[in-house]
Amino acid sequence: MFVTNTKPSLLDFTKKELLTLIKPSFRVNQIFGWLYHQYAQDFNDMKNIPKALKEELAKKYIVNPLTIINKEESSDGTKKYLLQMQDGKTMEAVWLKMKDTQLDENGEVVAEAKYTICVSTQVGCKVGCSFCLTAKGGFTRDLTVGEIVAQVVTLKRHNNHKHNRKINIVYMGMGEPLDNLNNLAKAIEIFKEDDGLCIGGKRQTVSTSGLSNKIDQLGKMDLGVHIAISLHAVDDKLRSELIPMNKAHNISSIIQAVKRFPIDTRKRVMFEYLVIKGKNDDIGSAKKLIKLLSGIKAKVNLIYFNPYPGTTYDRPQKEDMVAFADYLIKHGLLCTIRDSKGIDISAACGQLKEQGELSIAQERVHLGGKTQKDIS
Ligand code: SAH
Ligand code: SF4
Repeated sequence: MFVTNTKPSLLDFTKKELLTLIKPSFRVNQIFGWLYHQYAQDFNDMKNIPKALKEELAKKYIVNPLTIINKEESSDGTKKYLLQMQDGKTMEAVWLKMKDTQLDENGEVVAEAKYTICVSTQVGCKVGCSFCLTAKGGFTRDLTVGEIVAQVVTLKRHNNHKHNRKINIVYMGMGEPLDNLNNLAKAIEIFKEDDGLCIGGKRQTVSTSGLSNKIDQLGKMDLGVHIAISLHAVDDKLRSELIPMNKAHNISSIIQAVKRFPIDTRKRVMFEYLVIKGKNDDIGSAKKLIKLLSGIKAKVNLIYFNPYPGTTYDRPQKEDMVAFADYLIKHGLLCTIRDSKGIDISAACGQLKEQGELSIAQERVHLGGKTQKDIS
């Protein structure tokens, strides 16, 4: 059914690379505009490019490698997209509304709504966390650079979000970003291109389950991105139960790597702490967390475990969650509880793909007949 000899996408390449592939150079400037300012889907969209050049390019490349095959929308503006690649495989990206448009008393816009895109880096994941639905399907493959880049282009296009409007990217979708480090790093560079989407490192956050050696490698690349650490436990015994590769990259090695990571002095490292009922929701764990993070400019994001059929873990009680957060705050640690609605969708990364039907969605739209807050 699907083409197996897939072609590279123009979104796989930096501008510098495109300049070596396509001549003359002013055509590359035009094509770059079509890709990142007009969000071209295919060569037909590129109106001012000569037909002969387009035919030549179309023999070797495609434009956008993704097709939207499903979308779920929450009442708070969060939209979760199921995207299909050239080989027929699917993955998800999420459009999160972080702040509403603000109007003055005359109804004039004083501040535009703010959005974040949650991006996937792999189909499936090798890390195999016991609480994560993505892990249940095993690992299929890394996403290409173009498939990572195309998620942002496709979602901006679908939401009529102009190229020069600010957007944040969080690598918190399916997969472990640092397990696909080379493609991730190149995608980060492409997002940063001045003539393209111009999304600075400060607006990009890489979330990792804690591959400490790769945290060091990412740091050395000096891309200016933020990191978020999926910590989830304060002792190695529980963390190894939740995240099996903790045996190779234990808590102490992660903390050391974070301390070496180049961090913007005005910013904090985010530690994500997935709260599971009866596992890590006690005040004793909160106490240990404070000790563990002392000396780090940290911010803790508490996430309610989001249950799915077949899991043995439970969502924590609201009182326990609030008591945990209060304890951290009282002891001087910045802490937020991930807001539930949009986040129920984003925290459930993998669930649109795995389950098909999600009750949290208010609307389910089949397109083309084909068939988090506080993340930043
Ligand atoms: N692999 C990376 C990034 C993708 S996972 C990482 O683990 O950080 C993104 C976030 O979703 C992680 O913080 C993860 O802990 C969280 N997550 C996974 N399964 C979840 C679930 N069932 N409920 C709530 N959050 C979940
Ligand atoms: Fe992979 Fe992250 Fe899921 Fe763990 S939580 S299995 S690292 S996607």
